[in-house]
Amino acid sequence: MREAGLPTDSLTTTFAPVLFTNGSKTTLIDTGFGPDAAAEAGSTKGLLVGNMKANGIDPADIDVVVISHFHPDHVNGLLSKDRLTFPNATIMVPEPEWQFWMDIEEMNCAPQGRMSQLFQNNRRILDQVGERLSIFKWGAEIVPGLEAIAAPGHSIGHTAFWLRSHGEQIFIQSDLTNQAALFVANPDWHSALDQFPDQTVQTRRRFYDMLAEKRIALQAFHHPFPGRCYLEKNGAGYRRIPID
Ligand SMILES: [Zn+2]
Repeated sequence: MREAGLPTDSLTTTFAPVLFTNGSKTTLIDTGFGPDAAAEAGSTKGLLVGNMKANGIDPADIDVVVISHFHPDHVNGLLSKDRLTFPNATIMVPEPEWQFWMDIEEMNCAPQGRMSQLFQNNRRILDQVGERLSIFKWGAEIVPGLEAIAAPGHSIGHTAFWLRSHGEQIFIQSDLTNQAALFVANPDWHSALDQFPDQTVQTRRRFYDMLAEKRIALQAFHHPFPGRCYLEKNGAGYRRIPID
């Protein structure tokens, strides 16, 4: 953290969902913590809907919400006060993520603590989605121009995306790395948030090697806002070249 010029006694995490339009359709990838979190006293999270409205986008205008994985910073924004935040949207979720987190036996044998809380939270959220749910497979083009890519490790069904338009492409990594100052520079480090730490590192290195070699733009949920960069190899790790 010191090398990156950041505080060493506190950690600030960025949350940057992606919104794009293709033709007449508006798609949101991941939701942040949502309006309920924003309403907590002194909150600095869950600001997505307020920021959307400030930019003239009504939550009712979102046609599709794509979920990368079932962690609270990605799914909790689906609900506000137990109602759907994006009332007209189809909610698209990765099949392996859905199968694992909705499995009663997996839930019953989950370790107490973070894992059992994740199971409960995911049921609370996704039970409300009902008929608006659509389950997608890895490798499919799920929205025109958006391809879902297997990137397991951080979560069993963790999904990354290619977004392509007019001959250009960007790789949307979701949570291949969290805090960039730590995990981009030190890709072999494990986070307590990674469900399968060794697989997380393998997946991360496979994609980062490709992105650095081909110099393809990367969009990351937890990197410094707006979360877009190129990657360069740097010793045993990587270095971000931010794209303003
Ligand atoms: Zn996350």
